[in-house]
Amino acid sequence: MEVECPHEKVEFLGEQKGEDGVNRYYRCLKCGSVLILSEDGVLYEVAGPGNV
Ligand SMILES: [Zn+2]
Repeated sequence: MEVECPHEKVEFLGEQKGEDGVNRYYRCLKCGSVLILSEDGVLYEVAGPGNV
């Protein structure tokens, strides 16, 4: 059974400038997923080692 991680504790990895603005990268300290926050406020999630 999978338990969804709330990503409460994240570390800021850095930001990258794209065509549509700046994307900010975070990594969840609990599950290892990488979270990408776009300038529009859209959050993308890249599954980490704990979610494969
Ligand atoms: Zn998490």
